[in-house]
Amino acid sequence: MKNSAGRKALKSGSNFSGSNEARKGGLLHKVSTSPSVRPSTNGPEGREFGTGQLASRIAASGYASSDVTIVAISHLHTDHINGLTDGDRPAFSQARYVVGQAEWAFWNSTDFTGTPAAMHATFIQRKVLPLREKMAFISAGASIAPGVTSMVAAGHTPGHMAFLLESAGRSLLLTGDTANHFVASLQKPDWEVSFDMDKGAAASSRRRIFGMLAAEKIPFIGYHMPHPSAGYVETLDTGFRFVPVSHQFLI
Ligand SMILES: [Zn+2]
Repeated sequence: MKNSAGRKALKSGSNFSGSNEARKGGLLHKVSTSPSVRPSTNGPEGREFGTGQLASRIAASGYASSDVTIVAISHLHTDHINGLTDGDRPAFSQARYVVGQAEWAFWNSTDFTGTPAAMHATFIQRKVLPLREKMAFISAGASIAPGVTSMVAAGHTPGHMAFLLESAGRSLLLTGDTANHFVASLQKPDWEVSFDMDKGAAASSRRRIFGMLAAEKIPFIGYHMPHPSAGYVETLDTGFRFVPVSHQFLI
């Protein structure tokens, strides 16, 4: 995060947190009889650091990686695509993939040589291009599976997507990297985040997405949110406050 001089302005204490660190987590979502996964996955390369656990977590939930039929990709940053392959093989052998049209076009149409994004572009060439034949490219409002719809939340990357899950009258939004930190990015949505490629658009997306979630009391899962990753937002001053889910999904 930038604005480090302003960190004291964050109400970290009232959020019962003394840390500004962010975390990472993925999601397995079952639609009918076919699981899909929101790929926010660090892969084998992350295991020595304690990440890259998606395959083992899927196994612990009673599924195999080969049961996954749809992989919905919020954006193509490395920590969200690293787990798409395991070695040279696709990690989800039976899956097809969806990714934002604008996201794909950006990373495949620009020469990033000598820019800060060059590392990402090189990684995408290695990890994602081999999966090209199984990919579909989507825009806002795309129906990915029954009850799973895309929403554009651009700014973090040019084609960053959120995914709305709807089932039995209840909703849950997968926000990806719309917010990178559960206090700073929500309480100060206009603060610039170093990882956001278009700072203004990212701030605008944060206000729009989390404003909607607050107004409609819809819970969300954010990739970098702290355990249990799922929560609500309530309006606080000029931003929002993260309220982790505790019992709400059980009643
Ligand atoms: Zn990202």
